[in-house]
Formats: sequence, C-alpha cells, structure tokens
Amino acid sequence: MKVTEHIKNANGKTQFSFEILPPLKGQHIQSIFGNIDPLMEFKPPFIDVTYHREEYVFKEVENGLLKKQVVKKRPGTVGICAAIQNKYGVDAIPHILCGGFSKEDTENFLIDLDFLGIDNVMALRGDAVKSETYFKPEKDGHAYANELVAQIEDLNKGIYLDEELLNSSKTDFCIGVGAYPEKHMEAPSLDSDIHFLKKKIKNGATYIVTQMFFDNQKYFDFVKKCRSEGITVPIIPGLKPIATKKQLNIIPHRFHVDLPEDLIIAIVKCKDNKQVREVGIEWCIEQSKALQKAGIPVLHYYSMGKSDNIRAIASALF
Ligand code: FAD
Repeated sequence: MKVTEHIKNANGKTQFSFEILPPLKGQHIQSIFGNIDPLMEFKPPFIDVTYHREEYVFKEVENGLLKKQVVKKRPGTVGICAAIQNKYGVDAIPHILCGGFSKEDTENFLIDLDFLGIDNVMALRGDAVKSETYFKPEKDGHAYANELVAQIEDLNKGIYLDEELLNSSKTDFCIGVGAYPEKHMEAPSLDSDIHFLKKKIKNGATYIVTQMFFDNQKYFDFVKKCRSEGITVPIIPGLKPIATKKQLNIIPHRFHVDLPEDLIIAIVKCKDNKQVREVGIEWCIEQSKALQKAGIPVLHYYSMGKSDNIRAIASALF
C-alpha cells in the first residue's frame, strides 16, 4: 500500500515508522532482522531502507603505491526491501539516489522494484562522494531530485526512456522526497530551498520526510511556510535520539542542524554515554509527544542501525 493511503486509512491517528541502514558488506541479513524484530509490535505501516552510493578507497599495492578502488560498503537496499515485505508483510521503501545512477540505471532499478511489488520510493539527490566537495551527477544522470521525481512519474505514466517501446506497462509508485526545516546546507536561503521542494511536488512527489530536528518549533515554522507556499502534501517529521556525547559535534557537522541549548547542557552534564542515551531518549519522547498532540500523521525515526533506543521511545508513545 502507498504511504499516502496508510496515512488516509489511519484516520488522524499518529503512526510509527522508522528507517534502517543496510548492514556493512559481509554481514548477514539477520543483523537487520535483529533490529527490526523489537520494533514490529508498534505496527509500522512502512519501513525505509537507505541507499548508500559508492565510495573511493585507496589500497596500498607494491612499492608503497596507492590504488584507487570504488566500493559500495552498504549494498543490498533492494534485497532488504524485498526481504522485509516478504518476512513482515510491511511496506518497505527503498531510497533511490541521483548520485551514481544514469537515467538508464534508474529505470532498471525502478523496474526491479515494480516487479518485486514495491510501490513506494523515496527519491533523493544524494551527497557528493566522500572524497569530493560538490555533488556531481553521472553522465546522463540527474542533477537534482526533482528531475528524478519526474522520471519516476513518467514511468508511472508508462513513459520509458526508449520512446519506441509499445504498449509499455505503467508503474504505480508513491514518491516521497526529503526536506530540511533548517535549510539544506547548499541552499542560499530557506525560501529558495522551498521553491525547489515545490518543484519536487509539482513533478509528482506526494509526501515529504524531513531531515532530523531537535526543536519542534523549527518543524512547525517550516510546515507553516510550506503551507503558505501552497505545499499541501503530508510533511512527516524525521526524529533521532542522541546517543553519544560525540554526536553533539557530529550531528550539526553532518546534518547541518542546530541543537537546543537545554539539550546541549543536559548532554554535557552526563558522566558517560549511558546517561547521554537516557537524555536523548527523554528528549525524543518529549518531542514526539508534542508532535503527536499536534496531530502529525506519522513520526519517522532514524534508527541508524540501532533499535534499542527507538524501542524505548515507541514504548512511551504507541
Ligand atoms: P535536492 O532536492 O535535489 O536538493 C539539493 C539542493 O539543491 C538543495 O539545496 C536545493 O535547494 C537545491 N536545488 C534543488 N533543485 C535545484 C535546481 N533545479 N536548481 C538549483 N538548485 C536546486 N542520502 C543518501 O545518500 N542516502 C539516503 O538513503 C538518504 N536518505 C535521506 C532521507 C531523508 C528523509 C533526507 C531528508 C535525506 C536523505 N539523504 C540520503 C541525504 C540527501 O541525499 C542529501 O541531503 C542531499 O544533499 C540532498 O538530497 P535532496 O533529495 O534533498 O536534494
């Protein structure tokens, strides 16, 4: 079922969903199931699976020379989605990127998903590869997520890249896109970012999931601004409980979000990461309760491969 249908069918009840990462190459799929199992009692209508593009690594060869190699450290997004749908009977949402994909790769990826009975996708641009400063699209790939959304929507109309294909079948993907209550790091202003977000909706996206935020007011202000710009689709908040002291610096650096002063002070006072984890869970429960009270249709948690703290939060709410 589509995410938009799940929201409609819930009749205003707030639902619980979460995002997982494929395991590092070499690990068994059981490591994924081990994180999903404890969360199933909260009846997620859908589970997102992130996509991780290639990275460059340098391996030492003879004479101390370095050889550049392209590796995907977390492959398996599509297989994990199929396994989730098969094992749990829950909709799995693969993330699909512009980065690393030509339009032809994208089309073939979408055909695989369609054949597997996966009818939701989260369409994203992706970041620059780790060793590069700026995002570079593939030759014959998409530069922005709104172009990727347009290609998916074309396939929903039966329009394939090869215009000579006759009687081609239509896919029926529900398309989600990302958004940033505190602005995407590259956007010159929030207004400009929302302008391009609107383009993703115009091209066919029917729901939005936000970047993590730790101050609900930022989310509420963002939703208000989107609504005033004519964006009417559901805007699902993305939430993450802080779990380590290091994340005080890593999260702002990596995700370009601010942490509220009260949260920073509470974390700094912690003696160890066990205490930080408790503070993070409590903060996230309070955030979630306020969002639930405001009638938000889905609360979406970034599990980052760990389910124990997400379980503690879900137990307090769902
Ligand atoms: P876009 O919507 O393309 O926007 C990127 C930037 O370009 C923005 O600043 C925007 O304002 C600007 N822009 C857009 N269109 C235009 C245009 N036509 N002209 C000029 N400027 C334009 N990354 C992964 O690698 N794997 C994942 O699984 C993943 N999951 C994510 C899930 C969520 C919910 C979110 C919010 C992010 C996720 N990301 C993931 C990170 C994401 O790929 C990065 O944040 C990326 O830098 C931007 O992706 P986007 O789809 O928002 O890009």
